[in-house]
Amino acid sequence: MRTFLPLLVALVLAPLAHGAENLALGRPYTLSPAPNYEYCTESGDAAQLTDGAYTMGYFWTQPTTVGWSKVSPVVITIDLGADVPIDGVSFSTAARIEAGAHWPRAIFLRVSTDGRQWYDAGELLGLATAQGFVLNAEVGPHGHMARNYRADGLAAHGRYIAFVVAPSGDYCFCDEIEVYRGPDSLLSQAATGKALASPEEGFEKALSDSQMSQVILADAAAIGRDLAQSSLPPERKKAFQDEMLAVLQGPVDAPPLAYYETFPLNETHRKVLELANIATGIGTVFNWFADLTQVVPEAFPQEGSVLELVITPCGHLRPLSDERILEMVIADIRKLLPGARDAEVLKSRLVRDRQGIFAQRPHMDRYRPTQRTPLDNLYLCGDFTMAGHSAGMEGAVVSGKLATSAILLDKMQVVEDYVEHPHFSHGLIPFIKYGQPALLALLALRMLKNKLSKA
Ligand SMILES: Cc1cc2nc3c(=O)[nH]c(=O)nc-3n(C[C@H](O)[C@H](O)[C@H](O)COP(=O)(O)OP(=O)(O)OC[C@H]3O[C@@H](n4cnc5c(N)ncnc54)[C@H](O)[C@@H]3O)c2cc1C
Repeated sequence: MRTFLPLLVALVLAPLAHGAENLALGRPYTLSPAPNYEYCTESGDAAQLTDGAYTMGYFWTQPTTVGWSKVSPVVITIDLGADVPIDGVSFSTAARIEAGAHWPRAIFLRVSTDGRQWYDAGELLGLATAQGFVLNAEVGPHGHMARNYRADGLAAHGRYIAFVVAPSGDYCFCDEIEVYRGPDSLLSQAATGKALASPEEGFEKALSDSQMSQVILADAAAIGRDLAQSSLPPERKKAFQDEMLAVLQGPVDAPPLAYYETFPLNETHRKVLELANIATGIGTVFNWFADLTQVVPEAFPQEGSVLELVITPCGHLRPLSDERILEMVIADIRKLLPGARDAEVLKSRLVRDRQGIFAQRPHMDRYRPTQRTPLDNLYLCGDFTMAGHSAGMEGAVVSGKLATSAILLDKMQVVEDYVEHPHFSHGLIPFIKYGQPALLALLALRMLKNKLSKA
């Protein structure tokens, strides 16, 4: 099974019209098992999934919807009339979670030219998510939401296409399916993968693979987000992104045992989690960590890992011994990085730096110098100078720009206002400045009032 890192997931409010010819329109299909959801099951079910009409109103009580209850899988097989090139498909459904109607867990696409040998053409939910084609309608008056899953680029062909749906929960609903024509060149494409005797052959294994790839993709997406926000140099960021994409292009095979009992789930998952070492630690004693052998390999060429971790603020840990703090940190590392569970700690060192990072205290800003100094040929920049930001990266960058502006103006009469001058009277600043005295005044008034009412 092929997987993709879902860097962009677009959620829009209405299904978009697809430009290509809908090959399924008006075509006959079979349903297995027969629909059995009492409020929408009727004789029209035999044609409604390809009649071009989408359900209006409360989804599962309308005759235009076809519904199943307590069955899995649901197999919808459309006869396209002849061997046709297939570029994409869409599947329209709805859910209302609090009523027990969930989104499907997976929809496997299988194609066949003769109705006897079937081939896998991908899993629709995963493809739609990766391509940004999970299209949500607005929530209806009864609290349900209609959704259209669409995938393009299937590069398949066949006379028959089957949608093997794995429902989540008790229900499965669908009101319309579309199949989009691809280029004729697809017709000469030889089938790949294992031939299946029926569309639902291998359903359990495919479902297990797809559930696993969803876990791996969720982890990969979380790491991808952290990576995008990290302050790594662009070339290292790109290298990690390329590595992640390469890992995700690999096969995601479910191990024979119950996979959910072991983490990482498989080799791909292990590689994905290893890339998490550039991400921010959450729920750990440390706030941030990096494996220096990966972040700066030129400086740390050795085997294994060299982890650097930062704990800040750390006043609550200060009374503890170095040994105890290291013990807590190592326990968290083992929890966070599965690969570290069996690793031996060869060397560790704790550096206590009371002034490593600034502490935000009231009224201290006035002690920060401006970039211009009383000396004609001395200008200052750096996070400690007055730049309208706290003493972090932003403050350091803005201070540099302010210093440059000042030098250009003073020495060359060039007006280069690199940055907007900070407006100390805007935003939350006045509240910070006046909030504390105002709060104290209110408390004093309240105490006075209480005292007077008791008297
Ligand atoms: C552990 C840690 C974590 C941090 N995390 C964050 C964060 O997540 N986000 C954030 O925004 N900020 C963070 N910061 C703060 C941020 O790193 C600093 O605010 C920023 O780097 C300051 O930039 P600067 O240019 O003012 O000073 P520096 O980056 O300190 O640059 C000063 C340079 O001057 C050099 N120097 C000193 N003396 C001399 C000399 N006599 N001659 C020549 N060169 C000299 C120093 O070697 C240094 O390279 C963190 C800081 C630390 C220590």
